[in-house]
Amino acid sequence: MENSPFPKCQKCGSGDLVPLSDFGSQGAPIQYKAWVCTNPDCGYNIKIRNGEVYLGEPILNGELHSRARQEYTR
Ligand SMILES: [Zn+2]
Repeated sequence: MENSPFPKCQKCGSGDLVPLSDFGSQGAPIQYKAWVCTNPDCGYNIKIRNGEVYLGEPILNGELHSRARQEYTR
């Protein structure tokens, strides 16, 4: 992990912070909406929503995401 282009997680010191992108309600891409630690035991994350920064929200294991997708295809 010496050559990782991403910053080290400042919480656990072993994971990397990777940027995640999302898509808005109109389908427009939202780049780097969230940064998440790659260490699953750490779970540190920071994200922006409606102009406000959220720190360390619980990670939902994709449950919320799959539910939203079901509603979307209905
Ligand atoms: Zn971490």
